[in-house]
Amino acid sequence: MVTVNMEVLGHDERGIYYPESKRIIIYLDRHECLEDILSTIQHELIHAAVEDQNLDDDQEEKLIYAMAWADYHI
Ligand SMILES: [Zn+2]
Repeated sequence: MVTVNMEVLGHDERGIYYPESKRIIIYLDRHECLEDILSTIQHELIHAAVEDQNLDDDQEEKLIYAMAWADYHI
């Protein structure tokens, strides 16, 4: 099971997924509104969902980007 934790102040990232602990951390200070936070949670959950697919970081980012914009391409 993946857990999601929120931290008020963070690093340069908006969120990060740690596969070894199956933990997502969302840095609230890097977001402007609730929808923005939800989008980052979704992004990190997709990282968790595809971690067993042997994709490198760049492939995962491209996949998540394509999924985020898929509705607009149909
Ligand atoms: Zn990412």
